[in-house]
Amino acid sequence: MFNKRIKIKELLATEPSGQEVTIMGWVRTFRNNQFIALNDGSTNNNLQVVVELGMLDEATLKRITTSASLKVTGNAVASLGKGQKVEVKASKIEILGDSDAEKYPLQPKKHSLEFLREIAHLRFRTNTFGAVFRVRHTLAFAVHKFFHEKGFVYMHTPIITASDAEGAGEMFRVTTLDMEKPPRNEEGTVDYKEDFFGRSANLTVSGQLEGELAATAFSEIYTFGPTFRAENSNTARHLAEFWMIEPEMAFYDLEDNMDLAEEFIRYIIQYAMDHNREDLEFLAQRLAEEEKSLPQDKRSELGLIEKLEFVINNKFERITYTEAIDILLQSPAYKKKKFQYDVKWGIDMQSEHERYLVEKHFKKPVIVTGYPKAIKAFYMRENEDGKTVAAMDILAPGIGEIVGGSQREERQEKLEARMKEMHVPAEELWWYLDTRRFGTVPHAGFGLGFERMVQFVTGMTNIRDVIAFPRTPKSAEF
Ligand code: ATP
Ligand code: MN
Repeated sequence: MFNKRIKIKELLATEPSGQEVTIMGWVRTFRNNQFIALNDGSTNNNLQVVVELGMLDEATLKRITTSASLKVTGNAVASLGKGQKVEVKASKIEILGDSDAEKYPLQPKKHSLEFLREIAHLRFRTNTFGAVFRVRHTLAFAVHKFFHEKGFVYMHTPIITASDAEGAGEMFRVTTLDMEKPPRNEEGTVDYKEDFFGRSANLTVSGQLEGELAATAFSEIYTFGPTFRAENSNTARHLAEFWMIEPEMAFYDLEDNMDLAEEFIRYIIQYAMDHNREDLEFLAQRLAEEEKSLPQDKRSELGLIEKLEFVINNKFERITYTEAIDILLQSPAYKKKKFQYDVKWGIDMQSEHERYLVEKHFKKPVIVTGYPKAIKAFYMRENEDGKTVAAMDILAPGIGEIVGGSQREERQEKLEARMKEMHVPAEELWWYLDTRRFGTVPHAGFGLGFERMVQFVTGMTNIRDVIAFPRTPKSAEF
């Protein structure tokens, strides 16, 4: 058996008593031909391996370079060096993989996040990305734990869909047709009847509609899967491929929906705080460092940890869209013409407006409800006023929209009328309408963009830095 090793995280937490241990990892640094800082990705803390003088020949010493991989056996002893309790006095060092130090792009020094994006295949080996991706893992685990404990059923909704009726964004087409000479019908347009599925197909932009089908049987379900949007927006919070969590619940109204979303967000943040404290502290420090280069008024008022604690301990602000527009119209920013985009009832709020509300006005997450129906999807439940729908967006400091959700229109006639108005083809969505025909119930749900959540928790400003291999316009390396 090869993998008889102790992980460095575990070893660093034990009381050293000279016990023999085996560790494996990658060399971060090697000082004075004597001290190896070894990392295996279980923690940002390196294990110090001490090489006795004369133990290795000159040629072997030369091969212990940054990023070479080693198997080390030795005794765990109390460390005299500062910053660590335990070190390993090596008795045997085996080089598993050499690394040409001259060619290795990740020298032990500070690199910009932009540069690291170009070597995304190696950036996991940095402290920043080590911390980000361990936190991402914990958050994903917490998502499942939260819903599982509440009795929700995890649904895997399809990734390839033939319905292009949701209107949530631009779609990527899935086809096996020959792009050079596709079959054409009499009008000269591409004949998708000849395509793999006998119709045109796309990558999903949301699992919601299928989620609703399941919720009207299991009562409470959630999805957690990849989502694709061919939107050509090169922003720090949009990806062409991202992961979304979409709970959908029968017997919930909008308020139940908001309560669940708040509880859920608090739970997963708390879980990361309890299980990744060290990584979060590292990221907090990184963020503080990064913000030093910003002018005072652009820096966060709270450190990362304080911000997360604040979110766990304080209820989100809840306001209506109409109230939000009033606040914006009354704001100094509006009066001084600081907003690039106009503000009036009916607008789809721009990121600058959302950020004003959360970062300047309320200084906490805000849930906005009751959006004009004209700017929201066809399935959202119409309010009594006939103008607004039971939608809710959660806006988070530094991120903007993190959750989009609504109570769904469960009344069949209303839903069909709305589909007609919005030119959503009812024939194609016959299966969706069946849920309204056969035992319809009040129900609601929301979508949380997982990467935006990871951004919020890790304090990373660019969404490209919280997903392993980001897909964005003109970029799909790795
Ligand atoms: P935005 O206005 O920010 O583009 P949206 O209104 O298109 O968001 P929804 O369709 O409501 O978003 O999707 C639900 C959630 O999915 C959003 O609240 C957000 O967290 C996330 N999300 C949406 N689009 C993207 C994207 N391109 N990349 C990453 N996350 C996204
Ligand atoms: Mn969008």
